[in-house]
Parts: sequence; structure tokens; C-alpha cells
Amino acid sequence: MKLPLLSVFTHDVGIDLGTANTLVYVRGHGIIINEPSVVAVDQRTRAILAIGEEAKRMVGRTPSHIVAVRPLTEGVVSNFEVTEQMLRYFLDKLHRGAFKPLHRPRVVIGIPYGVTEVERRAAEEAAQNAGAREVYLIEEPMAAAIGAGLEVQEAKGVMIVDIGGGTTEVAVISLGGIVASRSLRVAGDKLNQDIITYARERFNLLLGERTAEELKTSIGTATAGLPVEAVGRSVVPNYDVLSMPMRGRDLVTGLPKEIIVTSEHLSEAMQKSINVIVEQVKATVEETPPELIADIMDSGIVLAGGGALLRGLDQRIAEVTQMPVRIAEDPLTTVVRGTGLVLEDLDRLREVLLPRTLGRAEFS
Ligand code: ADP
Ligand code: MG
Repeated sequence: MKLPLLSVFTHDVGIDLGTANTLVYVRGHGIIINEPSVVAVDQRTRAILAIGEEAKRMVGRTPSHIVAVRPLTEGVVSNFEVTEQMLRYFLDKLHRGAFKPLHRPRVVIGIPYGVTEVERRAAEEAAQNAGAREVYLIEEPMAAAIGAGLEVQEAKGVMIVDIGGGTTEVAVISLGGIVASRSLRVAGDKLNQDIITYARERFNLLLGERTAEELKTSIGTATAGLPVEAVGRSVVPNYDVLSMPMRGRDLVTGLPKEIIVTSEHLSEAMQKSINVIVEQVKATVEETPPELIADIMDSGIVLAGGGALLRGLDQRIAEVTQMPVRIAEDPLTTVVRGTGLVLEDLDRLREVLLPRTLGRAEFS
């Protein structure tokens, strides 16, 4: 590989520590790591057996003493030790391969909006213990807005809705700060659970979590099958109704069973949670000052995170808020690309970072 030596020595790393996926951006190289935020732990010895992709493959397939932990399920550093190990693993991974010279990097980490100072400190410490030289924290909605190409520092309102695995974060940003926001624990994981519950109640079928997620991402929609008045004005869902086999265990016979389900079934299964998300976006719009609303009418509400890919969700939000809505380009990488843009332009964007909790001299 022919890389100018100096750029290989770049020390700056942006991390999206998502509840579902962890992504790492290395300045000058782009996104180098994109793996599930999953850690497999042996409960008897407390040893960590696998991290990332490998650990996710073990979910639901392990002996009972091995558990797959998602240390960030709630979007915060809930399981400090495991988070630290996970971070260390991902940073170590950069040291291997083409990134050997990367030594004690400067790190920008996206963390959920509204976490407490204690949780912020935990994230900083985890990164520092994992080998980071300097740690900067940025609120995920801010990073998402930057990653989506929105101008966050102008005296103009922009609005971002980041629908991840564990949390949905809604934020209106102006002049480098968050003006109005909502953070809810209804996001991709909840939609998977909804599908599991629906399969059990409607078809007596026990589904695995991964099966539910596959159904959602393959044929799930936010609109199909909804009565028109539930969606709003003049909506005729313009999506094809797709179908797919749903495989699980029959709760009556205990044997495998397969049922063909359609996107209508899935939209029915997920309807309540989708309504919660849509209503919270609407509530945020309602508490946003009118001048900023006028600005957002121009730039549109921007959707990011994996949940943005749910078919018809953009349309639902547009109907309910009466605002233009667009999906960020490559929504699963919006946050990490935002942390990357901050690294590229740290001097200009410093004011959008969170204040540090660890007062260390070298941090001047
Ligand atoms: P986090 O930031 O919390 O790690 P992500 O932004 O990585 O979350 O999004 C992960 C979520 O997006 C998961 O719940 C996943 O099921 C969901 N997701 C991914 N692709 C799709 C899709 N095509 N349709 C609906 N949901 C999706
Ligand atoms: Mg995220």
C-alpha cells in the first residue's frame, strides 16, 4: 500500500459508540471499523470471549454460561468495564494491519444527548484507559447533523432525528447548540421486540431476535396497511406489499413452523412504537421557536441512524409534522462521519464539543 508516511501517522480517530453498532473513523483513511457493539462474556470466569462481529454471531447460539452483552444498550456506558474492553479491542485492531503507527490517538466520541456527567466521565475514562491520548466528547445528534452536512453553527435551525438500536434522539440545533430535543428508548431494538411479540400473539410462533430484525430490514414498512386516517391526509401507501417466510418454533407443538408474512403484518406489529417515534418528532417541532421552524422548512427534517432506512418512515414523519423530510446519505454512518468532520476541523468546531470532565494538564 502506497500511503504518504505522514498521513499514516495521523493520530486522530472518530468513534460512534452506538447501542447497536460501533464505527471507527481514522483521519485520512475513512471508516475502518464497523462492527456490532456486542461482547460475548463467559459468566463463570467473567472472561471476554469475543467482541464485535464474532460475538454477534454467537448471540442465541451459545451455551447458557456464555452471554452476549451489549454494553451500551441504553445508549450510555452502562457496563463500564465491558465498554472499556470493547473500545480497547477496536483501538487495538487499528494498531494491527495498515495502521501500525497509530499510537495513542486523539479521539472524538459520539455519546447520546443528555447523559449525566458521571456517564460522560465514564466514556472519557474508558477511552483513555483504552489508549486514547486526548478524548473529546460530542453529542450524537450534533455529530449526526454535522455528518449529514447540516450547518450547525449558523444562526439557523436544523433538525435531526437519529433512530438507532436502543434510542431515538430528536434534536433542533442552532448556533452550535441543541435548542430543543427528545431522547426516547423506542428505536430499532423495540421494533424487533414488537415483531417477536406479534408473532407469538398472532401466530403462536416463537421468533429469535435476529430473525425479527431480518424481517424488519427486509420487508418492514412504517406505512403499509395502515388505515388512511391513521397516516394523515391523502396517503395511499405507495409501497409494494412484500412477503417473506417467518421461521420459528410453534409454541403449541414445540416444532419448527414457517409462516408467510407480509409487510402489512410487520407494519401492524410495529405500529405502536412507530407512532411513539413520530409523535415525539411532532412534539419537538411543536416546542421549537417559530423562526427556527421556518429555517427547518428549508433544510428539512433529516433522518439518520439505521432506523431511518425503515421504508415509509420518512413519509409518516412528513405527514404528521407537515414538514419536508429527507434521509441522510448512508444513515448508518452519519454519526461517525460527523465525528470525522470534527477531527478534520477541530479548531472551527471545538465549540460544538462537550466540556471535558477529566481536568488533565495535557488537555490544555
Ligand atoms: P446505534 O447508533 O444505536 O448503534 P444504528 O444507527 O447502527 O444504531 O442502527 C441500528 C438499528 O437500525 C438496528 O435496530 C437495525 O435493526 C436498524 N436497521 C438497520 N437497517 C435497517 C433497515 N433497512 N430498516 C429498518 N431498520 C434498520
Ligand atoms: Mg447511533
